[in-house]
Amino acid sequence: MSDAVADAGVEATQDDDDIPVLFLNAIERTYRQGDEALHILSGAELAIWPGQSVALVAPSGAGKSTLLHIAGLLEHPDQGDVYIDGRATAILSDAERTRIRRNEIGFIYQSHHLLPEFTALENVLMPQMIRGLTRKEANKRAVELLSYLGLSARLNHRPAELSGGEQQRGAIARAVATAPRIRLADEPTRNLHLHTADHVFAALTQLVRASGLATIIATHNMEIAARMDRRVTLREGQVVEME
Ligand code: ADP
Ligand code: MG
Repeated sequence: MSDAVADAGVEATQDDDDIPVLFLNAIERTYRQGDEALHILSGAELAIWPGQSVALVAPSGAGKSTLLHIAGLLEHPDQGDVYIDGRATAILSDAERTRIRRNEIGFIYQSHHLLPEFTALENVLMPQMIRGLTRKEANKRAVELLSYLGLSARLNHRPAELSGGEQQRGAIARAVATAPRIRLADEPTRNLHLHTADHVFAALTQLVRASGLATIIATHNMEIAARMDRRVTLREGQVVEME
């Protein structure tokens, strides 16, 4: 593994092993539609330790996206709290939540969200420059990550000039490049061929283990799920370990 890939994550220290990177505590989320109340999450609990990858496998409509949005501080739960590195987030200001979301959480969306007017390389290096890396450093890391994901011959292609799988890999490189503590991926394999998906997620899992990060991947792909350290599902609004 190259240096840039190895230090794409924050270094894990011994003490970090004692507390979860991410801890969802007693999460409640109810959607109201007219008179109906949909209890999507009812006391959901999930703790993830440094270096762990977790597959979230559940049927459509079970609440996977809801759980990931709450874990990623994109939405507030109705009850319960999200702890990041042991720190409660509900009481934080919006500005502070935004800072955590920007610096510590990498969200990989269902659709790729690459900026259409920029090349693959620019899409990966820009968020790093926003975080203070020099163009030279950002460029070096972006080239290494894109190459690691098999895109060395596509650096200067715009998203429209990439296949769905290539766009997805570009989005993964971008999420990884900014070195978050937590990576959340919402069914990222939808547009990937099985073989590509397998390669990309082998790389992602390896990165997570090497760098003490945590990842949750919502997926229907059982081969991807089998590569992760843990598999969980949602049952009656709670997170349940599989097997
Ligand atoms: P999944 O990602 O597992 O397919 P979601 O978390 O997207 O599930 O949604 C869970 C359930 O909550 C679905 O039945 C969905 O229709 C419902 N839901 C999601 N968002 C809203 C919303 N903003 N308002 C009302 N219902 C919603
Ligand atoms: Mg979803």
